[in-house]
Amino acid sequence: MTADDRRRGAAIEEMVRHVARVVRDQRVLDAMRVVPRDEFVPPRLRRYAFEDHALPIGEGQTISQPLIVGMMTEAARLDGHEHVLEVGTGSGYQAAILARLARDVVTVEIVATLREQAAATLGRLGVTNVTVLAAESQLGAAHLGPYDAILVTAVAPSVPESLLRQLRVGGRMVVPVGRHDDDQELLVVTKTAEGIETTSLGGVRFVPLRGAGGFEDGASVL
Ligand code: SAH
Repeated sequence: MTADDRRRGAAIEEMVRHVARVVRDQRVLDAMRVVPRDEFVPPRLRRYAFEDHALPIGEGQTISQPLIVGMMTEAARLDGHEHVLEVGTGSGYQAAILARLARDVVTVEIVATLREQAAATLGRLGVTNVTVLAAESQLGAAHLGPYDAILVTAVAPSVPESLLRQLRVGGRMVVPVGRHDDDQELLVVTKTAEGIETTSLGGVRFVPLRGAGGFEDGASVL
């Protein structure tokens, strides 16, 4: 093992230790230990890949902070059998984590260059149970649903109705909701036979969800 390998291993352990202060699910922590976050960030930012920050990935978008990825994944309560939807592929990192804990993942991305890059990264890493799709006029990917869990990795103005329809009864949707950068809340919405049950995981900061069900002009969250 080279000195670089040792440094990288120590940085990963430090990242996981940090996430483990909040995230208790060992399977989530193991997935975060194994999925190489440095492969999902631009080469010039690799040395920061295991710090607990969001990082720019181009096109004005970001890869989410590891702690938030861990919290969202834990909240989805996956046991390996689920059909999962992610809205907002970005780098593909969150999708790769979900792919280790669910049966398969459908992820949709509105920006073509990010979509292509994410698909290439996932392919290079040998991840075969993730399908990367272009975002369509309706939020999500209704034709491949319903889903056992849905993660939305961009902030929505309210819990998107169209995604609730794509969620199976008993399924969980993890979605940041809010109108302004400083009052976003990460919600866990469980669909029941009677309606929905909502809990909050606290304040967060995400880039805006665009298009139908999001912010129509993409610039209204400031
Ligand atoms: N989960 C990502 C981080 C995503 S950032 C990761 O692990 O790296 C949020 C992403 O949502 C951005 O890439 C943005 O382009 C995308 N996005 C915004 N609105 C969208 C929509 N309506 N459908 C699909 N993707 C959308």
